[in-house]
Order: sequence, then structure tokens, then C-alpha cells
Amino acid sequence: MKKAIYPGSFDPVTNGHVDMIVRSASIVDELVVGVLNNSAKNPLFSVEERVSMLEEITKDIPNVTVASFDGLLVDYMEQIGASLIIRGLRAVTDFEYELQIAQTNHRVSPAVETIFLTTNLKYSYLSSTIVKEVAAYGGDISHFVPEQFIERIYRKYNIVK
Ligand code: ADP
Repeated sequence: MKKAIYPGSFDPVTNGHVDMIVRSASIVDELVVGVLNNSAKNPLFSVEERVSMLEEITKDIPNVTVASFDGLLVDYMEQIGASLIIRGLRAVTDFEYELQIAQTNHRVSPAVETIFLTTNLKYSYLSSTIVKEVAAYGGDISHFVPEQFIERIYRKYNIVK
């Protein structure tokens, strides 16, 4: 039984994340989308809001659950019995950081392996930061995030569309 975690901030969840979730869920037996509760990051959406949006978007994928965590990822993985980490690689710029994190996690917890999925070309430019930058100026984010979240994102910037 392969249980994996797909960790991230998901502030907010983008179409790139959703694509990663769907593809990872078809590879592993069980996938936990792990929402990092990092108060230092000053997120746009609270951890509860991020979990709730992810639950909404994954409700029809039977082997996916959503949970928040804080502290060390490998400690949380031990708690829930997961041995695989899924991460996305968008461009070479992601590589150096991701390699370092993957090797650190493996060193700290040798049973843990990281699997990288290359991004879908359609979403290789996309990040939560880009979504926030465009939304803050009232720009069109309809290609970036699931439709049902568009309004919720604008509302954070007091924009009514
Ligand atoms: P973090 O704050 O840890 O970067 P994110 O929520 O931004 O977390 O991303 C979580 C994971 O999703 C990372 O592995 C990241 O590389 C991946 N990811 C983000 N955007 C995309 C995308 N457009 N396509 C594929 N993977 C992505």
C-alpha cells in the first residue's frame, strides 16, 4: 500500500495543483494533500479556507484526502504512515531547491522517498503567487484557478466582479 503526501501552501489552489493531484492519485494507493500551516508566511487564505477549497475540488476522487499540518513534514508523514512525497517541477528554477529538500528529507528519514512529476505544459508558468498578483489588480484569473474559487479570491482584495 503506497500512501503519499502532496505538500504545499496552496494559497490558493491553482489548476496546476489540481492537475498534480489528479495525476498523483492515479499513481499511488492513497494521497493526502497536506496543507502547510505556516504562520510566518502570512497567507491570503487561512489554513481552514485552503483545506476547505481543496476538499471541495477533490471530493470526487476517492483515494484523496486533505489535511493540514505544521512542523517537520517527515514527522507528520510518520504520524499518518505515508512514505512518499509528491512534488511538482515546473522549470529548472524549481530543481535546485527541490533536490535539496528531497535529499534532506531522505537523510532525516531514510524510509521517505520523493517523487517528482513534471508540470503539465499548460500550467508550467502558473503559481499561487502569480494568481495573487493578477487578482490583486482585478485581472482575469479564470485560466488559473477552478471556476468556483474565482469570486472568493477577488473578495480577498475587495474586488466584486
Ligand atoms: P510551496 O509553498 O511549498 O511552493 P505550493 O502550494 O506553491 O507550495 O506548491 C506545492 C507543490 O505544487 C510544489 O511541489 C510545486 O512545485 C507544485 N506546483 C505548483 N504549481 C504548479 C504547477 N503549475 N504545475 C505543477 N506543479 C505545481
